[in-house]
Amino acid sequence: MLTLEYCRELDEKDVLAAMKSEFALPNNTIYLDGNSLGVRPHAALERVNHIVRQEWEQDLIGSWNTHGWWELPLHIGNKVAQLVGAKAGEVAVTDTTSSNLFKVLATALKIQQDDSKRKIILAEREAFPTDLYIIQGMTAWLERGYELRLIDGPQDLQDALSDEVVAVVLSHVNYRSGYLWPMQETTAQIHAHGALVIWDLCHSIGAVEIDLNGSDADFAIGCTYKYLNGGPGAPAMVWVPEKHVNQVGQPLSGWWGHAKPFDMATDYTPAQGIRRYLSGTQPITSLALVDCGVDVFLKTQMSQIRSKSLALTDLFIALVEQECGQHALTLVTPREQAIRGSHVSFRHEHGFAIIQALIERGVVGDYREPEVMRFGITPLYLSHEDIWDAVQHLKNILDTGSWDQAHFHRRGAVT
Ligand SMILES: *Cc1c(COP(=O)(O)O)cnc(C)c1O
Repeated sequence: MLTLEYCRELDEKDVLAAMKSEFALPNNTIYLDGNSLGVRPHAALERVNHIVRQEWEQDLIGSWNTHGWWELPLHIGNKVAQLVGAKAGEVAVTDTTSSNLFKVLATALKIQQDDSKRKIILAEREAFPTDLYIIQGMTAWLERGYELRLIDGPQDLQDALSDEVVAVVLSHVNYRSGYLWPMQETTAQIHAHGALVIWDLCHSIGAVEIDLNGSDADFAIGCTYKYLNGGPGAPAMVWVPEKHVNQVGQPLSGWWGHAKPFDMATDYTPAQGIRRYLSGTQPITSLALVDCGVDVFLKTQMSQIRSKSLALTDLFIALVEQECGQHALTLVTPREQAIRGSHVSFRHEHGFAIIQALIERGVVGDYREPEVMRFGITPLYLSHEDIWDAVQHLKNILDTGSWDQAHFHRRGAVT
């Protein structure tokens, strides 16, 4: 029997407990949505104030040099590299995950183009839709005979692989189920068939340990506004390792990726290294805030974050089953730690309304079709007691049926 006292004991032993003070959190809120929009680091307010009042207002255009604006995508990239097993100079923070997927997939196809029988791009039917939409939009390639083929789940990857597969796009952690692909084994499995792999790290970066170079992966992309707390719509990361980066150019060949952008040359010559993955002028204010999010991570170790994440997700699953066992909840997320990310999803017929009822009580999770209630577990600012309290609210809402009110069924533009 798990108790509140037991949760409090775990909090006393929690080596990450002090990290909560790094963040500005709303009162009376248990935030279980940091896998969708991370919280604000305290440092972000000071930083944005400095950028707006000093760097922009006073120093104006000189700030490109004097405040390091020009270097910011690679400067922050070097910090992000430390969280994902990448080397300095291999990561840029720029653009969106969607557009970065376009860049790296186009690159992968180009690297493989001499092998003319390789035309199949594999992706997951359960992928976050933008990944599929971007591939579907690559019509110049699709018209040349490339084809998107979908697998229904991890168990189907092996059968789908062949010497006709050019590249595989996988979400390291699935946004809905929380399934975590074993990166090293899966990369080796894909390489055994001569295909390249692109890892989408949106739901794993800042939540699980990642070793891109140790896994011999080919490309990675990922959000910074989720677990990394970079701020709403903050630019995404893109990783291209030394082995691929200078092989070919990427197609969004804008001036920021040029070898000598201020020569204003007529013809494009890509910069060496990850800089060629930049396209145009960056949203500096937003980009700079990513620094504040990542700096918090650099005060800890991903192994500590992962341990606490597993402890909290284990606790959440066990408590829901103990406290809400008589209700029709189905666990969607794998129980096995090795294949579980840092959010937990339960299915319930009235999941949408239940989530709205929780939000009204200050327990913020979210809902994904079909019927999936999703609870993001962020070890930097959640305690074991928070997990206890969240489950008590869920129990109360289910026991009383208080979710069944008209206003909990109404849907906004964002669910
Ligand atoms: C959140 C998420 C995205 C979002 O991409 P944007 O370009 O930032 O909108 C992409 N892929 C996955 C797997 C995600 O979870």
